[in-house]
Amino acid sequence: MSSSENTTATTDASAPETHAFQAEVARLLHLMVHSVYSNKDIFLRELVSNAADACERLRHEAVTRPELTRDDPDFAIRLEADKDKRLLIVADNGSGMSREEMVSNLGTIARSGTRAFIDSLGDNKDGSALIGQFGVGFYSAFMVADEVEVISRAAGEDSAWCWRSDGLGAFSIEPVELNAAPARGTRVVLHLKEDTAEYAEPAKIERIVRAYSAHVPVPIVLLAPKE
Ligand code: ADP
Ligand code: MG
Repeated sequence: MSSSENTTATTDASAPETHAFQAEVARLLHLMVHSVYSNKDIFLRELVSNAADACERLRHEAVTRPELTRDDPDFAIRLEADKDKRLLIVADNGSGMSREEMVSNLGTIARSGTRAFIDSLGDNKDGSALIGQFGVGFYSAFMVADEVEVISRAAGEDSAWCWRSDGLGAFSIEPVELNAAPARGTRVVLHLKEDTAEYAEPAKIERIVRAYSAHVPVPIVLLAPKE
């Protein structure tokens, strides 16, 4: 990690580094959290679609670099629910993200659709229908979670990183122990809000996946905690 990027004067490479969300992203997050959309279920469609995109991206990359998927050739999306801990995890063994990709893709570079999404909401359109359309899907996680962690290791890379945010203006990024990280790919950990705890119920998750993610080209596995 280059020390010039540190926002604090610390030289401890393992200390979390904090970044402010880009202004439009912060606005988008505020709208996501405070608007009561008719349909929150679509957050799962968005996270599953990102997981599938990441698998497809690596599948293409592996055509010319087969070593990237040799250890684990079968792509899958794993959904893990834990009602007691009020957790829902969306994990994939796709491309993963480097530290730089996490910082830019999850908060500091506004996506082209962000502005259009905010403007369309102003026209009183239903946000849940617009989210997918404008490619601002990741942030919809904050409709149901008050804390989101994204733990990722890019295919072919040794280091793994954890992005973490409460969606309120900033996110942190820090290295994670390799034994706490996926061998390859991304784990999105949603700490569900009290009033959205139902999204940790396997029956509910299964119903949403059948309704919205039936045509995803990667197998989706639902895991409930062991008894
Ligand atoms: P979109 O999918 O339309 O690009 P999102 O807001 O859903 O917009 O996601 C933003 C970006 O974050 C993606 O383009 C991708 O680069 C990155 N990303 C999100 N989830 C994952 C994931 N599971 N694996 C790898 N990259 C991801
Ligand atoms: Mg997406």
